[in-house]
Amino acid sequence: MTSSIDKSLKDLPLLDLLSNNLMDGVYLIDPASSNILWVNRAGYEALQMQEEELLHHSVLSLQKDVIGIQQWHSIAEVIRQNKQFTFIGRHMRKDGTELPVEVNTSVFTHDGCEFFLSIARDISRRREQEAEVQGREEQIWLALNSCTDGLWDWDISSGHVYFSPQLKRMLGYGPDEMKPVVDTWKNNVFEEDQPMVLQALEEHIQGKRDRYEAVYRMRNRNGHMIWVHDLGSVSLRTSEGEPIRVTGMVKDITDYKQQEFKLQELAAYDELTKLRNRRECTRIFDKQLNFAQRNDQPLSLCFFDFDYFKSINDQYGHMAGDYVLKETAKFLTENLRVSDYLFRWGGEEFILISANTTRQEMQVLAENLRAKLANLLLDYDGQSIHVTGSFGIASYPQHGESQSELILAADSALYQAKSDGRNCVRLFQQ
Ligand code: GH3
Ligand code: MG
Ligand code: MG
Repeated sequence: MTSSIDKSLKDLPLLDLLSNNLMDGVYLIDPASSNILWVNRAGYEALQMQEEELLHHSVLSLQKDVIGIQQWHSIAEVIRQNKQFTFIGRHMRKDGTELPVEVNTSVFTHDGCEFFLSIARDISRRREQEAEVQGREEQIWLALNSCTDGLWDWDISSGHVYFSPQLKRMLGYGPDEMKPVVDTWKNNVFEEDQPMVLQALEEHIQGKRDRYEAVYRMRNRNGHMIWVHDLGSVSLRTSEGEPIRVTGMVKDITDYKQQEFKLQELAAYDELTKLRNRRECTRIFDKQLNFAQRNDQPLSLCFFDFDYFKSINDQYGHMAGDYVLKETAKFLTENLRVSDYLFRWGGEEFILISANTTRQEMQVLAENLRAKLANLLLDYDGQSIHVTGSFGIASYPQHGESQSELILAADSALYQAKSDGRNCVRLFQQ
């Protein structure tokens, strides 16, 4: 059995078989003349030719990239020096169309003659796939660009950063501006926000966070502040998993942030008097009390309630009552220190919180406000309105440790002021 195969192998027309079945084109070339001495079937069929049309013709006739025998000689020299040479080029079919090829040429001598053996592979499918991938990448890039305000792509090792034209526009720069390095970006980030932003990025690179995400402030070219939402992740790694590239997108969220601040303000301030409301009072009181406790400082609060306010409404109308509340809030604010906080507790009741202020100091402050208010004449629609108020004071630490204890104490002092005839200041008595 084995011997019959061995025997049949001896006279197997291997060259013919290869010539007819190889997918790649094979050309035997005379380096001196550039003539084709032998070609396989794929070699001439790929070019839509008959064997005779190629044999003894110059290899230059099927080249699109090599022009003239001079250039051939210099290429031949390079092939000789390298023993083997690969180039990507274009062959020309009979109908004039191009065939993208990768040609691998080696040199050998036989019987004292030099030959080139070129194997040409059709790479048109590969080219199509590359173009497809590239096209898809461009499409993705385009789509991303349209749903954000900018893209960036950071090559960690070289430090080079690509900033998309949209991103530059967002910051007020032209397409040829912004040096493509990390510092260009960093320098535009608000200094206070820099540590947080850099930490978020670093933690993602170190693998502590799935992605990089940060909301922060930037300065645009004119020095104006903008708020951005920045989102990115490692887009390329080495085979060991080390990050090589980080890609991200930025969105200008300034309008959204301003809206948010407006809503926060609406939620914190009373519309009529423009003073902070009761909710804010609870929040700030808590903070101030904590600070006082930690730093061993006194803190005082003063409840304030208008006297016979119902009769103001009755006598001058509800609009006049509103006007009085608005104007007195303004007047009281003007007569406070910057460290004092005045809140509208509700209705015609107000609370004043003064940090690092003893009960005696608060008594002086409240008495001063009471007297000034009593001397105030408000002009409403040609009518002079006169108002007075009653004040109740409580202080930390003498009258309570907690917010509720202190408010209760101040309320009780206010009740005392009302009982004592109104238009007066009372300190909480145990
Ligand atoms: P006193 O405090 O001296 O005992 O008498 P008062 O008349 O001020 O009594 P009370 O505190 O019980 O009544 C407060 C009144 O303030 C009742 C309410 O109609 C009026 N008031 C509360 N909020 C507003 C407001 O926003 N606008 C106006 N115009 N009136 C208000
Ligand atoms: Mg009242
Ligand atoms: Mg009241």
